[in-house]
Amino acid sequence: DGSENRHRRVLLKLSGEAFGGGEVGIDTSVVRRVAKEIHEAVQQGVQVAIVVGGGNFFRGAELQQAGIERSRGDYMGMLGTVMNCLALQDFLEQEGQATRVQTAITMGQVAEPYIPLKAIRHLEKGRVVIFGAGAGMPYFSTDTVSIQRALEIHCDAVLMGKNGVDGVYTADPRRDADAKLFTTLSYKRALVDNLAVMDAAALSMARDNDALIRVFGLEGEGNVTRALVGEEIGTLVFN
Ligand code: UDP
Repeated sequence: DGSENRHRRVLLKLSGEAFGGGEVGIDTSVVRRVAKEIHEAVQQGVQVAIVVGGGNFFRGAELQQAGIERSRGDYMGMLGTVMNCLALQDFLEQEGQATRVQTAITMGQVAEPYIPLKAIRHLEKGRVVIFGAGAGMPYFSTDTVSIQRALEIHCDAVLMGKNGVDGVYTADPRRDADAKLFTTLSYKRALVDNLAVMDAAALSMARDNDALIRVFGLEGEGNVTRALVGEEIGTLVFN
């Protein structure tokens, strides 16, 4: 029945794009649905940690183009991720799901600081833990942070929820009608063919540390729960 593939503890990466529904700010209908599906997976016994992006508010590289110093822009980007964390926390709690936010930049009124052992403790108690503010360091991405957090708190897999695409393809499926979906993919091929799994720094950290990554589409109803519990959707990337 596939139950041997069930995940015990996972790291879900949600991009800022997912929160914004393609626009600046928060699309509450999307966040509400994702929260419901996360809660469903927790009820099925999976421990869920989440890293959220912030691209629906700011990206440091884009702010730099607009004339803001890069590091300051990156901090603005990191603060944007925290707003997404709080929105997701709110919808999770509306579902009755206990949730803690931990941030890499200290802000005691709204979140706990990032304390890995405490995060593990929360997970063991059935709480969802949301990691905000990236790594707390400019020049990093939330993709890299999702791999780092997954390694540090011992997750079985990193689940990359994507918008507008349901896995990794041989070419961009939005431009090339012959593009084929990989159901499995080696890190070697992903790097050699420069396939769109995640940014290069994140991908090499994942490969070097033998992380298991699943890239899947957020849009289909129930997909988030499916990915979290360990069903085979999208593309599995491994060594
Ligand atoms: N960021 C950063 N350090 C980190 C994580 C994020 O400086 O550890 C900044 C960076 O400017 C980035 C922005 O925060 O552009 C938003 O994060 P990201 O672009 O990874 O979000 P996503 O693309 O997943 O929405």
